[in-house]
Amino acid sequence: KRVADRYLKREVLGEGTYGVVFKAVDTKTGQIVAIKKIRLGAQKEGINFTALREIKLLKELKDPNIIELIDAFPHKGNLHLVFEFMESDLEAVIRDRNIVLSPADIKSFLQMTLRGLVFCHRKWVLHRDMKPNNLLIAADGQLKLADFGLARIFGSPDRRFTHQVFARWYRAPELLFGAKQYGPGVDVWAAGCIFAELLLRRPFLQGVSDIDQLGKIFAALGTPTPAQWPDMVHLPDYVEYQFVPPPPLRSLFPNTSDDALDLLSKMLAYDPKTRISAHQALDHRYFTSVPAPTKPALLPRPA
Ligand code: ADP
Repeated sequence: KRVADRYLKREVLGEGTYGVVFKAVDTKTGQIVAIKKIRLGAQKEGINFTALREIKLLKELKDPNIIELIDAFPHKGNLHLVFEFMESDLEAVIRDRNIVLSPADIKSFLQMTLRGLVFCHRKWVLHRDMKPNNLLIAADGQLKLADFGLARIFGSPDRRFTHQVFARWYRAPELLFGAKQYGPGVDVWAAGCIFAELLLRRPFLQGVSDIDQLGKIFAALGTPTPAQWPDMVHLPDYVEYQFVPPPPLRSLFPNTSDDALDLLSKMLAYDPKTRISAHQALDHRYFTSVPAPTKPALLPRPA
């Protein structure tokens, strides 16, 4: 079946936050693509000019570590977003028990994630929904961030759908406290959680509710004090938690290098104003100390 006279529809790849995703062939280029069908019916205002303008901006975001938005068009009342097709994602890598991730492999995955973030943050585009299954892996081993900017255009994903709850594990504390104004630090926090997950091979902070998520964060990193994070007490959903002193991060990551732990602690700084930026993170000595990051083509991938 042809879509928009250009794409030959193949199998469904999965159901995502905004709708179904299917594989297709771009008859114009022969390229295999993934088309994300976004239900506009679920949108209160439908597709407006602001959204169309923002989508146009996303098409301009081209970087080796960002998944390319090739095309966008309305078709039968749904918006279709056409992306380059990706073989795998980081969640599949982390979960595959046959894969051994060396410190050099982890460094490479984190470096590619941060490079994608730096590129978008420089253009003032936030991701807002970073999680391992949004970090797609191309046939050549490059990791590419998917769904960039969509959260802002289409609103935050509806968390009532059960498969969406996992995104909570990557939410920054300012978001959990209801901050309405936030910045690129939310993506750095999420990248920190993904870094920890690569080290542990399981999600680092698995809260079952937003309140519990904060509890899990505070148990792992200590309850933030107003001195450490002055703006915290003014956030809309701020409530005082029982004080837990920070345990040494080393106790949670026994086999991790000092450089890695130093960077991790800076990505998971409570105050978004003192949290390391993606750009500063790439300049951290972790990336220049041995071992060097694995070249993308040599990274392990699921069978
Ligand atoms: P979510 O919103 O839960 O992150 P997505 O809408 O991004 O999910 O994707 C839904 C499904 O489609 C997932 O199984 C994902 O692996 C697959 N998918 C999404 N984008 C691509 C792509 N560019 N290439 C291949 N598969 C993709």
